[in-house]
Amino acid sequence: MPILLAISPVLGYNGGKGCDGMEKTPVGRFAPTPSGRMHLGNVFAGLIAWLSVKSRGGAMVLRMEDLDTQRTSDEFAQILREDLTWLELRWDIETAPQSQRSAVYDQYFQILQEKNLLYPCYCTRSQLHSVNAPHLSDGTYVYPGTCRNRKDIPDRAPAWRVMVPDRNWTVFDLLQGEYRENLATDCGDFVVRRADGVHVYQLAVTVDDGEAGVTEVVRGVDLLSSAPRQMYLQELFGFAHPAYGHVPLLLAPDGRRLSKRDKDLDLGQLRKYLTPQQLLGSLAHSCGLLDRCESISAAELAAEFSWEKLKKEDIYLNADQLLG
Ligand SMILES: [Zn+2]
Repeated sequence: MPILLAISPVLGYNGGKGCDGMEKTPVGRFAPTPSGRMHLGNVFAGLIAWLSVKSRGGAMVLRMEDLDTQRTSDEFAQILREDLTWLELRWDIETAPQSQRSAVYDQYFQILQEKNLLYPCYCTRSQLHSVNAPHLSDGTYVYPGTCRNRKDIPDRAPAWRVMVPDRNWTVFDLLQGEYRENLATDCGDFVVRRADGVHVYQLAVTVDDGEAGVTEVVRGVDLLSSAPRQMYLQELFGFAHPAYGHVPLLLAPDGRRLSKRDKDLDLGQLRKYLTPQQLLGSLAHSCGLLDRCESISAAELAAEFSWEKLKKEDIYLNADQLLG
């Protein structure tokens, strides 16, 4: 079945400023980490991201999140592109992978430096973990500001932290409703560049989404607690806040999160047994988008997509059920 590709506005994208009252063109993104084959949870988040923008005639940006060059490879990146193509989840433009953008990230790091918001942090991992309770779902820790006024300077390279204001941030999530966080009490000053010189995910994502004119960020709910940090950086860098939609996680029948280790549910295995339409139909049925489990293409799903139909709760899946 031919896919209905929207005319791509992204190439001449003007930042979505609709001064004539028209809805700005939605721009979404796929941001996979090329460290292995996509599992069903990755496919699910990518599917919803695609459906949300394509159902409104928008455009998709693809970028490889390969900051961790030890774990990622060009081969996996190529397989990811092939898997998205097989699913008919097409993208309109691919931007440079994160591993090639450190000079750009450095420019934004300098902006923070010029605003006097950065300071070096010499805390070791064990120091950080011993004094604090765990932060939100992403496992980072509330940093107490130890190095803000540090007098002794150890003889090693520091990480760099950005100072955060004592202020509430509210995410109006398309699926999860309102999520509120005060960065000062719920997170603390956070690292934007590691001691080895690599810029962290929060900074890279904010810069990449901002420069690509992304207007909506759809991803797994495990990243919901990242949104306030990114909103803070967006404000400092002068980017508009995108809309956020954090989708449920897919769980194995025993309640464990699907991961790239679950080879039974990765696309390499699933493609041997299922057509893309069968796979998308099963996913759409389990998340509430379809009342019946039937084969359906991505383009057909886009015609009926709405955020109201999507379940908020985690979704349990098992391979046997899926493979019927
Ligand atoms: Zn420190």
